[in-house]
Amino acid sequence: ETMTTNGHHDMPTTKPLPPQTGTTAQAAAAAHQTNGTTKPTSVLHANLNSPPPKIVSAQGNYLTTSTGTQIFDATGGAAVSCLGHNHPHVKKAIIDQLDTVEYTYSPFFTTDTSEKLAERLTKSTDGQMSKAFIVSSGSEAIEAALKLARQYFVEKGEPQRTRFIAREQSYHGNTLGALGVGGHKARRKIYEPLLNENVSFVSPPYPYRGMRDGESEEAYAQRLGEELEAEFQRVGPGNVCAFVAETMSGLTLGAVPPPKTYLSTMKSICTKHGALLILDEVMSGMGRTGTLHAWTQDSVVPHLQTVAKGLGAGYQPIGALLVHRDVVDVLSKGTGSFVHSQTYQGHPVACAAACAVQEVVEREGLMENVRALAPVLEKLLRERLGGHKNVGNIRGRGFMWGIELVADKPTKTPFPASKKLAATIHATGLRPEYGISLLPGGGVADGIDGDVIMLAPAYNITREDVEVIVERTARVVEGVLGG
Ligand code: PLP
Repeated sequence: ETMTTNGHHDMPTTKPLPPQTGTTAQAAAAAHQTNGTTKPTSVLHANLNSPPPKIVSAQGNYLTTSTGTQIFDATGGAAVSCLGHNHPHVKKAIIDQLDTVEYTYSPFFTTDTSEKLAERLTKSTDGQMSKAFIVSSGSEAIEAALKLARQYFVEKGEPQRTRFIAREQSYHGNTLGALGVGGHKARRKIYEPLLNENVSFVSPPYPYRGMRDGESEEAYAQRLGEELEAEFQRVGPGNVCAFVAETMSGLTLGAVPPPKTYLSTMKSICTKHGALLILDEVMSGMGRTGTLHAWTQDSVVPHLQTVAKGLGAGYQPIGALLVHRDVVDVLSKGTGSFVHSQTYQGHPVACAAACAVQEVVEREGLMENVRALAPVLEKLLRERLGGHKNVGNIRGRGFMWGIELVADKPTKTPFPASKKLAATIHATGLRPEYGISLLPGGGVADGIDGDVIMLAPAYNITREDVEVIVERTARVVEGVLGG
């Protein structure tokens, strides 16, 4: 078994733990074992009474906790750290920018770095997306997209367009506007009274649970298209601003690529009714699927596109809204402005970091690396985990993979949400015996039950790293579920 790494650290060989069943208590216990503390802190953590492990240093693919555990970061947090940690080129760019201009207010002043980043982003779409609106997170990019879509139609003289159609089990962020177009029931639940009522939902593409026996991908896409068409008709096609979709489903479905012809079918329905297509590439974009923009693999150009995560690789908080030139034209000929400024918009240091990240992706041939290693990752995952009694489905693209866990394979019966299986697997992975950080997703089967664990490693990992990731992931799954 290979346990060599990028050369950053020598990792001890891991030993599997005895099988155990996943419970919340065990998840918490596992986290504490790594963390070394059970005391609440002043930070309002997700778990108010139990802080997660504390990271004291981060280098390459490895995170080191305060108790000395070394963890292979197989997900870069939530699919963020696409260059790994402590990259010298990005750090230098940040320092240089701090020495030049640390902050300006974007309505008053522009900077070289924000201009450079926007130009890089628009060029990467061959100019089809002709402007970039730079913000500080994925949620903010979505908020900007929703507002820009609305403004576009007001300026076009179609103010009756107030509705959005989005997808069930989708995730577009946690701010209220973004949550309003998110279709994940559990995340929406207590906020329903605060959420936009002008949003309705259609089925997401989800071949494992949604495709019929013997149905082709194209026929499945056609069926989903008919559902979208029916929803346009139900709400009145002339009332719809936009259809909002993740190009490749992320957290809430667990790395599901679009079936063949799905995106083009959806776009043609939007076009037919004069509505916009908003593609959310906050997770799937900026190289995660092996191309800088995920939509290029399906040859479908959106009107509005959001990116974040991989854009700045975690070195700074940054996201962006990319706007198609046709949309820009309408605004230019109309009021000539987009009234949605934010204090930290186009932040020079964040832009400098993002420019440097994108330079590294280009110079080091990282898209080529993702495309070369993705089939290796897929093959090893299928070989090592495909036969496990609880692994129902393995799917993904590029460096974005999901392993869906089920209680019963033939019937695809999910584990109940109360078991908190994915969270338990995540917490168990952090223990010194396993040393891997995985991204857990819950509610994948129906918005409530069902578990997935996601992998989203850095773009610059090696073949040996791929082996480490697969081996450790398999051991955690076996450690928690047996087999
Ligand atoms: N959209 C998608 C597809 C995401 O995966 C996420 C975050 O996971 C967001 C939007 C929200 O981004 P952020 O957490 O940066 O606000």
